[in-house]
Amino acid sequence: MNLTDTYRHKGLRRRLLESLRGKGITNDRVLSAMDVIPRHFFLEKAFEEWAYQDKAFPIGCEQTISQPYTVAYQTELLNVQKKDKILEIGTGSGYQAAILACMGARVYSVERQETLYLAARKLLYELGLDKWITLFYQDGHEGLPKDAPFDKILVTAAATEIPEVLKNQLVIGGSMVIPVNNPLQPKSQKMVKLTRQSETAFSQMIFDDFRFVPFLKGIIKHRD
Ligand code: SAH
Repeated sequence: MNLTDTYRHKGLRRRLLESLRGKGITNDRVLSAMDVIPRHFFLEKAFEEWAYQDKAFPIGCEQTISQPYTVAYQTELLNVQKKDKILEIGTGSGYQAAILACMGARVYSVERQETLYLAARKLLYELGLDKWITLFYQDGHEGLPKDAPFDKILVTAAATEIPEVLKNQLVIGGSMVIPVNNPLQPKSQKMVKLTRQSETAFSQMIFDDFRFVPFLKGIIKHRD
């Protein structure tokens, strides 16, 4: 794989970041992580041109790398701090995990499609990010009981409801950002930020509408 980041890529990336600012992203730590991590590494070479448009893009297995605006929005809401222990559900291309690691977090990311898990594992290793990111091939509905609790949880697939299992894997004071299906608009999700106030109490804030691929049960094996 050719992991080169040219001046042209850097220029396109700066333009994308300006457009994200224009759309309301203000957190400089989020924007600077998106400046450091070349998004085109996470798309196939043939689609490199698409990497710096503010669009979701297919990554195989009928899945997509989230739109840069969505990545920025979720990361901003998550309020990532250095040394945060973060669980991501839906590794996909590995791009979002790379952004979190670049912000100083320790990332645990789960993917149900073995093909995507294997590709992300190889790429993150090549980028030297495997030191901060551990990937798991399993169903994210279970979370990671052995590694819990987490300071933050980020779900990058559309849930029908917030899984209780995941809520209980948050530290007290920790929060989860998750897109939850909007009953009034079947094809879109409301971004929800849930915070664990105590052992049993949780608070919720509801934000804008987005479109994610579904959060599905079970795992899918890789086929050559
Ligand atoms: N964060 C990704 C976006 C991937 S799209 C990125 O930066 O590229 C959402 C991903 O969630 C898909 O790869 C999909 O396979 C995965 N997914 C859906 N349901 C899941 C589940 N139950 N457990 C783990 N991953 C799941």
